[in-house]
Amino acid sequence: MQLVLSLCSGIGLLDRAFKEAGFCVVSAGDIILGKHHDVRDFAAPKGKFDGVIGGTPCPDFSLLKRDRPVLEESYGYEMILEFERIVKECDCTWWLLENVSGVPTVKIDGYSHQRIDINQAWYENVTRLRHIQFGHKENKYLQIERGVTAPGQKQSCALANDSRSFRELCKLQGLEDDFDLPSFNVNGKKRAVGNGVPLSIGRVLASAVTALQQNPVTQQDNKICECGCGRIVTHRGQYYDFSCRKRAQRKKNKSAVTVQQ
Ligand SMILES: [Zn+2]
Repeated sequence: MQLVLSLCSGIGLLDRAFKEAGFCVVSAGDIILGKHHDVRDFAAPKGKFDGVIGGTPCPDFSLLKRDRPVLEESYGYEMILEFERIVKECDCTWWLLENVSGVPTVKIDGYSHQRIDINQAWYENVTRLRHIQFGHKENKYLQIERGVTAPGQKQSCALANDSRSFRELCKLQGLEDDFDLPSFNVNGKKRAVGNGVPLSIGRVLASAVTALQQNPVTQQDNKICECGCGRIVTHRGQYYDFSCRKRAQRKKNKSAVTVQQ
């Protein structure tokens, strides 16, 4: 059984998906539970954990945020540095960081590096774009099949500030009907659930990490497709295939528009 340390775990939705998949997950807590759960005060033991997972705070990297702070001065960036510090302290085999696509690249010495876009709409009728970074000491790469977004109206995902009810947000995140956080007030509950990783995405990630054990891809010079699909490119060039090239082009155009606004 793999032992996993969870950082900035919120109310533990990502942890839950990994536990379901048979991992033993230990959480370093989250500051939403009080200042004694501040990851900045957390010291990790070396050589105990197989993996480190976490979804550090993402609002500072959102391209939609108008008053984005200077990167190096932002809380979100500080938490990424903490994530990196703890990965190094643990000396774990692999790490997985969940965030948004505007997140800075986190390359940690001694680990491979992979960025992967993932959309909740590949698994259910809710659109939520998330972004994963993954590192592995033996250069193993997560294989996440890109799903297809079925046409038709999608529900918009649960947000931290959301006018819909707590019950509705729970449903959007894949939580059961009687899920509750009795120690939080209503707004606190909604924020905590809205900030979480949807269970459908968590489950895909946990099973992709499980699959690594049967997946001895360990070439030193692996090149990862730059479109965000996370696939390994075995030929010359930057992209896995033609649709990757198109996707990367669309992304570039989109970010150009965002800058102009
Ligand atoms: Zn690609």
